[in-house]
Amino acid sequence: MAFDTPTARRTLAIVGGGFSGSLLALKLVALRPDWRVVLIDPSSRPGRGLAYGACAPSHLLNVPVARMEAGLSPAYGDWLAGRAEMVEALAESGGEMSAAFSPRELWGQYLQQQVAAARVTDNGAGLTVLRGEAVRLLDAPRRGLVLSDGREVEADTVVLATGNLPPRPPLPADSWLQDAACFAADPWAHDALTVIDPDAPVLLLGTGLTMVDIALKLAEEGHRGPMLAVSRRGLLPGAHRYGGHWEPFLAPMLPASPLTLSKAIRAEVRRAEAAGQPWQRVIDAVRPVIARIWSTWTPKQKRQFLRHQRPRWDVHRHRMAPRIAGRIEALMADGQLSVRAARSRDWTPAGDGVAVTLHPRGGGPAETLTVARVINCTGPRSDLQGLEVPLYADLARKGLIAPDDLGLGLETADCAVLGPRGEVSTWLHALGPLTRPAWWEITAVPEITAQVDGLAHRLAEDAVVGPSLEEAFVDLGAGI
Ligand SMILES: Cc1cc2nc3c(=O)[nH]c(=O)nc-3n(C[C@H](O)[C@H](O)[C@H](O)COP(=O)(O)OP(=O)(O)OC[C@H]3O[C@@H](n4cnc5c(N)ncnc54)[C@H](O)[C@@H]3O)c2cc1C
Repeated sequence: MAFDTPTARRTLAIVGGGFSGSLLALKLVALRPDWRVVLIDPSSRPGRGLAYGACAPSHLLNVPVARMEAGLSPAYGDWLAGRAEMVEALAESGGEMSAAFSPRELWGQYLQQQVAAARVTDNGAGLTVLRGEAVRLLDAPRRGLVLSDGREVEADTVVLATGNLPPRPPLPADSWLQDAACFAADPWAHDALTVIDPDAPVLLLGTGLTMVDIALKLAEEGHRGPMLAVSRRGLLPGAHRYGGHWEPFLAPMLPASPLTLSKAIRAEVRRAEAAGQPWQRVIDAVRPVIARIWSTWTPKQKRQFLRHQRPRWDVHRHRMAPRIAGRIEALMADGQLSVRAARSRDWTPAGDGVAVTLHPRGGGPAETLTVARVINCTGPRSDLQGLEVPLYADLARKGLIAPDDLGLGLETADCAVLGPRGEVSTWLHALGPLTRPAWWEITAVPEITAQVDGLAHRLAEDAVVGPSLEEAFVDLGAGI
């Protein structure tokens, strides 16, 4: 069944109606009211995506309101004004809306409303939302997408905005645990946290922001049993801190290697702390030049960074809202949550649960414990190599994409998708976390907003080359 487009001058199809795809759709219908923009997402609540779809009331954004502004109308801060759910957040930020950390659920509602308000119901120009999963491209010479139910969407331009992939289980592929009922491979699946005895011990694999979300959700849903979070280094995300300022200090002398970067940051943190400024502001001052630094490193240096510096970078860069940090501290102080640096090995069935041996980092005696549920909190998967997702398998078969060697996503140049020999597509683009190989930090709303703005303008102007990556990021970083 072909999807009819009688009046629009041009059709653009976006795969994925999370924040990245929805924002692009909203910006394009504003810039090109004569175009038809088709947003494809399986959810009944387009706009939210994974991050703002599966959240519990306790989950807060980890970016303050001012940095979440994406150039939409009404502004997020104005939309939030007067909402009862903001009372606690405003009390914490001293009444400053711009500095407050809002519930994630509210941001999800805001995005969903934005998409709903922009929708058109006829077949002409404007935004059309299709509920479905894109599984392959139309065969040449036609261009567009086929959905899993057989519907076809013809389009001049296709944008991939499929975002955060379910996490990769940190287990050998043939491990019996992969299929065991006591293992939750995807913590965001609707049944991941159901049927857990509230007094039973639970093992959380990972100690980052996903673990924080899941520990809070379990506690909120009445879990009383011990929760043990384990990762190789046992690093917890840092907490946001209000106030202070630190000037950008890296540009124009960009660090030549990951080691130079971490030395420069550590030296600057010492200087900032001596001047009474929190380390958080130093990390914020690095943020505007991260994409530029990343683009100057060799593949070997990037690999070094991912192996040695990434864990520390992640916990300093991706932080918890102060209230979330307080709740996690309270769970740890009560002894309900503990965090360990260890490797988990020798998984064996134990009743309905599993026995596992933890080998502490840096040596010390191994410990075997039995838990009722193991929850994979290692965070979204990024590598597409070997991933059995129909759309990407089709794109790979057709020689249109090149998953990168570092396992971060798809190779792109200013969002244009690159083929295996580096050929730049003129009609296939990608956005958001998928484009990490070129941008590295392209996970959070401020960076994605800058990326979307650049792509929307380039597409709207039919320009093959638009503002470069460096220009897009030049004014980011103030605040958080
Ligand atoms: C739990 C969590 C919390 C976060 N919190 C914050 C925060 O507080 N602040 C912040 O700045 N950033 C946060 N982030 C970062 C987040 O990555 C970005 O903010 C942003 O939401 C990414 O949006 P996205 O649209 O690229 O990806 P996603 O939100 O993952 O959306 C992708 C969408 O594409 C759909 N899709 C996938 N494949 C197909 C297909 N074949 N056909 C059709 N649809 C498809 C998916 O169903 C999904 O709806 C968070 C991330 C996570 C995972």
